[in-house]
Amino acid sequence: MRNPNAGEPFTDSDDAIAAALQDVSIPTLLLSCIHMTDDESVRRSILEGPLKPAGLFLNEVQGYMSEEDKAAARTLALDIIRDYRDRGCPEPAPIDPVRLKQMMTWLVAGEVGDEYVPMMLEEMGLDGRDAREAQFRSAAGARAEFPVIVIGCGQSGLLAAIRLQQAGVPYTVIEKNPGVGGTWWENSYPGARVDVGNHFYCYSFEASDHWSEFFARQPELQTYFADVMERHGVGKHVRFNTEVVSAVWEDDAWMVTVRNANGDNEILRARAVISAVGQLNAPYIPDLPGAESFAGPSFHTARWDHSVDLTGKNVVMIGAGASGFQVAPAIADTVGQLTIFQRTAQWMFPNPDYHAKVGAGVRWALRHLPFYGRWYRFLIFWPGCDTGLAAAIVDPDWPDQQRAVSAANDMARMMFTQWITSQLDGDEELAAKVIPDYPATGKRTLQDNGSWLQTLRRDNVELVRCGIERIEPDAVVDADGVRHPADVLVYATGFRVNDFLSSLKVTGRDGLDLHQMWEHRPAAYLGITIPGFPNFFCMYGPGTNLASGGSLIFHSECQMRYIVGALDLLLASGKTALEPRPERCDDWYDRSQAEMQTMVWSQPSIKHSFYKNIDGVVNSLSPWRLVDYWTWTREPERTDFVIS
Ligand code: NAP
Repeated sequence: MRNPNAGEPFTDSDDAIAAALQDVSIPTLLLSCIHMTDDESVRRSILEGPLKPAGLFLNEVQGYMSEEDKAAARTLALDIIRDYRDRGCPEPAPIDPVRLKQMMTWLVAGEVGDEYVPMMLEEMGLDGRDAREAQFRSAAGARAEFPVIVIGCGQSGLLAAIRLQQAGVPYTVIEKNPGVGGTWWENSYPGARVDVGNHFYCYSFEASDHWSEFFARQPELQTYFADVMERHGVGKHVRFNTEVVSAVWEDDAWMVTVRNANGDNEILRARAVISAVGQLNAPYIPDLPGAESFAGPSFHTARWDHSVDLTGKNVVMIGAGASGFQVAPAIADTVGQLTIFQRTAQWMFPNPDYHAKVGAGVRWALRHLPFYGRWYRFLIFWPGCDTGLAAAIVDPDWPDQQRAVSAANDMARMMFTQWITSQLDGDEELAAKVIPDYPATGKRTLQDNGSWLQTLRRDNVELVRCGIERIEPDAVVDADGVRHPADVLVYATGFRVNDFLSSLKVTGRDGLDLHQMWEHRPAAYLGITIPGFPNFFCMYGPGTNLASGGSLIFHSECQMRYIVGALDLLLASGKTALEPRPERCDDWYDRSQAEMQTMVWSQPSIKHSFYKNIDGVVNSLSPWRLVDYWTWTREPERTDFVIS
């Protein structure tokens, strides 16, 4: 069978190909050409010649190449593609790893450390294999008698289901919503879209050449997960409209109480449980004086009430983080007046393609040019892969820690500030409201194509930066006593991120209650396993959110490979229960916290952030490099566990 990443053969005319090349990523195109030609001198002329990327930045997919160089590269590529077409588009021969590393280095216009090469090759799957699919030591028969319950059918739960199915493990997924997608099911607010490039923000083994936008909107993302579920035959194992109420460990199995939409409870028995409930799942609505007296419709962004017509209405939006930032531009045209209460200004950086459509040429290249999509994935992944950590690391000697935490961080601040001020036409009053007073990247940095500040500058939009004194039946009164009329109240106030697994009660060995044990210290080894809770695994658990780059799908793939490895370890041992050694978990937590102390997210200069819990401790985020987490989760270490 032809390598699925080698592209579908084509017979397009020269003119059609030349037209397609107009809007593709030129560095990606040239690497695809390396696969298409067998001519070593042509390969060398690309990798050692003058037409090459000059640098790399997140979402800059042309490598800062000049227009002349891009035009010359298209001419070079057209010859190679024509020849490849005329030879019948043969499946390209594999390229040796030394050359592949050279191609990576060329693409990033810098170094790609040796430790990254296997990780990136795995992520790209150039050989057409899903390298993260497990190899087993346990007997297939043992796996077939080991039922597992997965809680949640968002991106991580769906992935868990696919991997369990591949392992021949019987599984049931319990999902409270009527459909698949988790956060991409629930967050249907106007303007909702992903802000990790979609050709990377998809499963490595379910790459997609069909995205209509580079940063797809919620309906397209939800459809993607529904399609993947369908393709893998997972749907029949999912119980939708059903919640997990509790899970109790008894002897050698979990007794999981589930509740259906009619309120009927049922107890299911499983040998292992995988929690895939996410971190951004339970909406947070602050307790504001008078909120209950509000007479009009009010709802949270994750519970958007689409029956409410906003046309001509006075809408007050409380909160403006990542969600509010997307809502405001999407509704400003429709509403009468939009008042935005923003407690803390947000850092943002330019991404001109944030709302851009994927052109026909790019789609053609993704479909037909060998490994174009795979190298494009690399191109989006790499700039957010650990390089983003540099600006987040605190230099304790840096003088003004409220302004920046290091030289690199100050550089980011200057760049982001320049982007913001370039859009304000010298409006000092607005500048004072929208330029943050804390270090760059200290909270989640937003991607921007100018739509946020354009929205704030509209006549019918007001940004209020002081607090809220009270809510009245038809208004919100700010801390300065100004009354802002409100027909509709939108809470864009985020999620209860620090209440991990808050939707269910989990009772482990010897009656141990997970939430009591955790209190404000939710520790899980590698964010996955918890002492005292045998055969219980978390995906996107404590300490695994990402603030500096990467994608949660990448992290989920690491976690699920580890979980399948741990189940295999257990079943191959012939025993029944596996849990991490407490000292390993404590050590992991302590080391993670020590590392976190060196990062911008934990600094006192960041006053409000959902990354911090009520004690100001950051338990939700990973402070680690992606390559480290990938290495640590490749294979579970037998000695990390008590297997009984
Ligand atoms: P968020 O970033 O936590 O923002 C919540 C907003 O509500 C902030 O402006 C916050 O102010 C404000 N707020 C919270 N409590 C308040 C209070 N008591 N009084 C006044 N204001 C209050 O939540 P989010 O916007 O829903 O985003 C959460 C996360 O979801 C993101 O970081 C991201 O991980 C994910 N997300 C991703 C996308 C995407 O991929 N494009 C889109 C949306 C969400 P402070 O800043 O002062 O705390």
